[in-house]
Amino acid sequence: MELKTIMIEREQIEMDVVFVGAGPANLAAALHLKNEIRKHDELVDKGYKSGKKIGDIEIGIVEKGPFVGAHIMSGAVMDPIAIRELMPDFLAQGCPVDSVVTEDEAWYMTAARAIKAPITPPPLKNKGKYIVSLSKICEWLGQKCEEAGINIFPEFPASEVLYGDNDAVIGIRTGDKGIGKDGKPKENFEPGVDLLAKVTVLGEGSRGSLTKQLTARLGLNEGKEPQVFSVGIKELWELPEGNFDEGRVVHTLGFPSDTYTYGGAWLYGLKNNVLSIGYVTGLDYLDPLIDPHSEFQKFKTHPKIAAILKGGKMIKYGAKTMNMGGYYTMPRLYAAGVLLVGDCASFLNGQRIKGIHMAMKSGMLASEVIVEAFAHEDFSEKHLSHFEEKVNLSWIYDELFAVRNFHASFQKGRWPALINSGLQYLTGGMAWGFMPHEYHIAGHERMVTLDSDGRNLGDNTVNVDRHRYDELKFDKELTFDKITDVYHAAVSHNEDQPSHLHVLDTEICATRCAEEYGNPCQRFCPAAVYEMEQNDKTGRKELKVNFSNCVHCKTCDIADPYQLINWVTPEGGGGPNYNGM
Ligand code: SF4
Repeated sequence: MELKTIMIEREQIEMDVVFVGAGPANLAAALHLKNEIRKHDELVDKGYKSGKKIGDIEIGIVEKGPFVGAHIMSGAVMDPIAIRELMPDFLAQGCPVDSVVTEDEAWYMTAARAIKAPITPPPLKNKGKYIVSLSKICEWLGQKCEEAGINIFPEFPASEVLYGDNDAVIGIRTGDKGIGKDGKPKENFEPGVDLLAKVTVLGEGSRGSLTKQLTARLGLNEGKEPQVFSVGIKELWELPEGNFDEGRVVHTLGFPSDTYTYGGAWLYGLKNNVLSIGYVTGLDYLDPLIDPHSEFQKFKTHPKIAAILKGGKMIKYGAKTMNMGGYYTMPRLYAAGVLLVGDCASFLNGQRIKGIHMAMKSGMLASEVIVEAFAHEDFSEKHLSHFEEKVNLSWIYDELFAVRNFHASFQKGRWPALINSGLQYLTGGMAWGFMPHEYHIAGHERMVTLDSDGRNLGDNTVNVDRHRYDELKFDKELTFDKITDVYHAAVSHNEDQPSHLHVLDTEICATRCAEEYGNPCQRFCPAAVYEMEQNDKTGRKELKVNFSNCVHCKTCDIADPYQLINWVTPEGGGGPNYNGM
């Protein structure tokens, strides 16, 4: 019997606040909530504050990975501004930062040269900040949450938002376990549970699956610009002593990206001669033949980069999307019973390529609103709208508003964007105020078709480049094919479950998409999940989805030009293991 035809009795667990996703936004939010409740209750006790005492409330964090940090990946250089507000003695309390940035550089890459900028552009100045493994930071924050009495539920993927009267959010449902690939319950079947809460906080990261459902149902994007994304592809390398110093940070622009594709790299020197190296490609690229994983592999063949990696060994791999649009692309951050924090709500400064501090701060501000909601027993949309006001009164607004045109200007090409950025530096952020508003276009609407005359951008016409990767070979020493890289992401999914990648119309894949875009899913997925396989019966190539390779980056959900791919949470615990990334 198929699952949908049987009635399932689900356990209901009453919580007070449920956080979806154990990333930096929600972990900081949950800890801050505990602290703020304590402060609030003390002030009420002393008669300094109105509202009722809150006391011990049930706070839960659900996480789809097997442990906190398992699915977390970033570059990463962390601006400590938010963690310092959360925990002024974070270093004394054992926060596992890796290294302090001691030198930073910006390089413009041509095919043969790396030209060092005489002055590091201010947004890329990182001296004194911390190079971190975000996975380790989250693991540590998770421990702090548990010490504070917050419930963490690993292997609990949130699969649906639960709604009450008038579409007020009343909690979430977690995914069922033990469903076979034929859609039928297996012997070990366990239904998901309904976690009911007065406030649900979505901090799922870029392109969160519940955020997508909620945004569509409640129209949270109305009057906003579409979110735009990039995908960051990363490897960790062990290098010979002396190849790249600990604390050194390099950002690059140029090779191998063309001037109409947003792209650049990072190189961060960690302890013990480990290098974090990665490449970011804007998922609003025009040429459907671009492959972000190949862009990264090609980047490593640059003579300057190959020399740094010489004699080293790749030890880990990962990929993750990030929201690049910033201020104009933020959805409405609240509705009755729900708040949106972190990357899923565009809290990332695309110019600085930094979001950890914004994610944490957004979570902390959300918690302050939640405290007032409990103090006045008001979880309405009107009350929770104070979150947006708080964001607009905080340093998040100052930072994001100053760079609000940054990514949109890149959609016109690298040179207009650099002129815009240069003007901004020269005027200390004032210039944007006098510049025309640059509107973001959703990435999936920008791809040119294979048989078109390209896309006209001002004086230039951008077209497909069929020879982009002619010289790229995967030698498994410097450059790696996707399957080898995925092995280093330690991905595991139970194969006997339905695919979590729902392709809504595979007929389009075999016909229109093959003709118009050459099935770009085969290229934009950095984990070789999508394959067009010859079907001898029909005599054509048809889509095969190797879902067990998936590293949960969400690129496919974002970049598919027909928007037919819907990423949903797989059975709990499945996915990459980004421990240390
Ligand atoms: Fe990323 Fe989608 Fe590929 Fe999974 S299937 S690795 S989410 S692009």
